[in-house]
Amino acid sequence: MGSIEGQERAIAALGAMLETPATPPPLLFHGPEGCGKRTTALAFAAALVCSARQGLDACGVCSGCQRVRGAIAVSELRSKSSSQDRPMAYPDVGLISVPPRKTRISILQARDICQSMTSRPFEFERRIYIIEPADLLTPAAANSLLKTVEEPPSYGVLILVTAAPWALPVTLRSRLRRVSFRRLSEAVVVRHLRAMGLSEDEAQRRAHFARGSLSLAADLDLQARVRAIETWVAILERLSQGERAGALAVAASEAFAGEASSARLSLELLLTILRDLAASAVTADPLLLEVGTSERLSGVAELLIGSSGQRAVLVDRLAGELARFNRNPRLAVEGAVLALGGVLRNGDLPA
Ligand SMILES: [Zn+2]
Repeated sequence: MGSIEGQERAIAALGAMLETPATPPPLLFHGPEGCGKRTTALAFAAALVCSARQGLDACGVCSGCQRVRGAIAVSELRSKSSSQDRPMAYPDVGLISVPPRKTRISILQARDICQSMTSRPFEFERRIYIIEPADLLTPAAANSLLKTVEEPPSYGVLILVTAAPWALPVTLRSRLRRVSFRRLSEAVVVRHLRAMGLSEDEAQRRAHFARGSLSLAADLDLQARVRAIETWVAILERLSQGERAGALAVAASEAFAGEASSARLSLELLLTILRDLAASAVTADPLLLEVGTSERLSGVAELLIGSSGQRAVLVDRLAGELARFNRNPRLAVEGAVLALGGVLRNGDLPA
């Protein structure tokens, strides 16, 4: 875990758990998408079962370390079985995720975890299951984990990983020890992208667009990004010229809300644009937005920055819309545009 950058507080909290012989409590790793939660969960699991750990770092070669590397396959074991099947036992270490062609983590998968936790580990001293993304547990699946989370066996470690902790039932969430992960700085994302072989220029553009998400920065389609920016810029411009937000909200949701992932990316992008506008007014730094673009939006920038309290409320509001993307991407995008329209027109937000 020592080589994981930008998450020093989380690593320190986990390191303290490794120092004691006690089994870690059930954990909730939460923080923005693409900031290293899953990598850290796997590194922590390896450190817990490694027979030759040095400090915080697993050796990478012992059978425990190999077991953790193979853990990814566990999530697919269930995909062929039927709902009538009895719970099946997982290996000592497993990563449980959404099976191929499914959209949620099912109650069957959750029951398998609980069932597996009832027997002592075969090979290692701990039995470790990582659930990711935990916000995609069905309500029934989350519910069925409660007892195991409340009274875990002495050898059992559960790690729930999510970018949307608010989407977990509070009954489950409140029983987990939180380990919080931060958005990565652009500098850290740039370093990772450079190490992957990207040019300095491309690494910087991607890091900036991705707002601290390394996975997003690595996958980003820059051309599509440029088109999406143009769409948002046009919407912001028309809002600032007094056009009604309702029609523009529908246009935005048609452009962006085809699927949850594109809705979320488009809202993340809107936050980036607003952040750039704020930065340009304060520091006059050259932006990744084209120079002409920031001139087109100077009216928007003034309105947003005129009242910094209002801007904070707006960003909160947009983040709230982001949180809802899982349930209804169309409403999330429309809600964001209506919120913007409210700020630009009246300096306040619709209720
Ligand atoms: Zn090892």
